Amino acid sequence: MGSSGLESYTCPACKRVLIQGTDMLRCDACNQTYPIQEGIPDCLLEELSESKDPVLRRMRAIDKMARIYETKLWYPIVLAVYGGFGSRTLAQLIEKATGKVRSIEGRVLDIACGPGTYGRRVASPSREVFGIDVSRGMLRQGVAYTAKEGIGNMHFARARVEALPFENEWFDAVLCCGSLHLFADTVVALREMARVMKPGAILSVFTFTAGRKGILKYRRVREGSLRKHGMHVFELPEMERYLAAAGFERFEPDVRGSILTFSARKSGA
Ligand SMILES: [Zn+2]
Repeated sequence: MGSSGLESYTCPACKRVLIQGTDMLRCDACNQTYPIQEGIPDCLLEELSESKDPVLRRMRAIDKMARIYETKLWYPIVLAVYGGFGSRTLAQLIEKATGKVRSIEGRVLDIACGPGTYGRRVASPSREVFGIDVSRGMLRQGVAYTAKEGIGNMHFARARVEALPFENEWFDAVLCCGSLHLFADTVVALREMARVMKPGAILSVFTFTAGRKGILKYRRVREGSLRKHGMHVFELPEMERYLAAAGFERFEPDVRGSILTFSARKSGA
C-alpha cells in the first residue's frame, strides 16, 4: 500500500522494466523516455487530436467529458439509450462487473479506466489496481478522485490496450468496462490483455450486444454505430469466438436489455 506503482511499468514496445528518472521513465534498449506528468506516466507519446489512428482521434472528445462522466449527465443516458431504459443503473453495473474481481486478491488492471469508475471500487490494501487510458483528462480526474476518496492503491498511466506497459502473466484480474466495443480489433486487444494475465486470471467486461431493448436492437443502428463511431455491437457467439481466439475460456455472459456483462478466464490454469 502506498507505493507509486512506477517501479511496475515496462516499456510498451519491448516490455523491459522501465528505469525511473526525474519526471520520466526510461527504456535504454529502445532509447526512449516516457514523461511523467502530474504523477501519470505517458506511454502513448501521442496527441489524440494529431494521431494518424482514427480510433485515437475519435477519443479526443473524451478528454473534455472527464468531469461529467460519473454524473447523471453521461452514464445513465448512455445506458438508457444504448442498453434500454431500466436495463441497468451505473451502480448495478459496477456491482456486477466488479463482483468477481472483489473476491480475489493481488493485482488488477483496469483497461480504458476513465476516471477509475470501476477500478477505484476494487482498490484495497490487498488489491493493487493499475488503470490505463488514452485520455489525459480522464486520468487526471481519476488521480483527483482517488486523492479525495483516500484510495491509496490505484495507479494511473496513459497507454493503449494494444501496447500495455506491463510484463507477461502479472495480473490476477482485468476489468474492461465500457470500451471493448471501441477497440479497432477486438481479438488483438483481448490477446494483449491475455498476455499480461496469469493463467486462470479473471477477465470482467461490460460492453453491448444486440439485445431486446435500447436502440441497439435495431440492425440499422448497429451498422451505423460501427460505420460512424467505430462501435462494435457483439453477438454472443461472436464474443465467445473472439475470446477463444485470444486465449480465454469459461465465457459467462449476462444480458440485460442490450447491456452485456461477462466474465472469462485466461486459459492454461
Ligand atoms: Zn523498450
